[in-house]
Amino acid sequence: MNRSFPAPRKRFGQNFLRDRNVVARIVAAIAPQPGETVIEIGPGRGALTEPLSRVVAEQGGRLTVVELDRDLAAYWQERAAQGAPINVVASDALQVDFAAFGAPLVIVGNLPYNVSSPLLFHFARFHEQIARLVLMLQKEVVERIAAQPGSKTYGRLSVMVQRRFRVTKCFDVPPGAFWPVPKVVSSVVKLEPLRPDPYPQLDEKRFETVVRTAFGQRRKTLANALKGEIDSETIRALGIDPNARAETLPVDAFVRLVCALPRTSA
Ligand code: SAM
Repeated sequence: MNRSFPAPRKRFGQNFLRDRNVVARIVAAIAPQPGETVIEIGPGRGALTEPLSRVVAEQGGRLTVVELDRDLAAYWQERAAQGAPINVVASDALQVDFAAFGAPLVIVGNLPYNVSSPLLFHFARFHEQIARLVLMLQKEVVERIAAQPGSKTYGRLSVMVQRRFRVTKCFDVPPGAFWPVPKVVSSVVKLEPLRPDPYPQLDEKRFETVVRTAFGQRRKTLANALKGEIDSETIRALGIDPNARAETLPVDAFVRLVCALPRTSA
């Protein structure tokens, strides 16, 4: 179809993929299976949408795309009206209730970098429906997500994502694969919900609060950062050094801390 697109919009994080080899590798990483509901966040001009919708259609499905930019959403609505095997949701992905799509869900996308962390937290709410996420993010963000305790990049994002998902780094994508050319290197990452949930009894709200508090005061020892919430002796009794810092603590240590908190605090 012949149609002129508006100029790329910075506020929507629009850097469009133009390297077909990278697109093919992303489609291979997504590996859609018959019966899965595949949702692409931010189809943009369709670099990924076109080949992915073909694969999904060959399996008897229909790709759903979620696009915030009204002009681009209108383009995809037009394409769908003309018979393209696509459902269009013209909306902010942060507002989408992904539970409404049933299961198993595969959510994919070359995400707008300015909202990648809020989007990750939003997707995590639908972990029960999700089979996997295959996302292109800033390389630095993927490193934070995949980081192990003790490394410089290990932090709140690592703990919150690893509490829910098994993280597999797929491959890096250089700036030249996009137009306009971004300043940063990107990476594709696969996130698969841990099943069964290793911590089904965990108070998620408290977990989030404790992780935020512990990393909000990175240079403090654990005992100092969590003062008023839990005392050193209790921390020690859990097999955790109260003088340790948050960035050295694995996910299961945070879980043990949260489970040991007195019922009334936090
Ligand atoms: N998938 C295309 C590609 O790889 O060429 C476009 C990727 S571009 C980095 C990000 C896309 O997400 C744009 O189409 C942008 O308009 C859209 N977008 C930005 N914020 C969004 C949001 N909150 N919800 C849904 N789509 C969004």
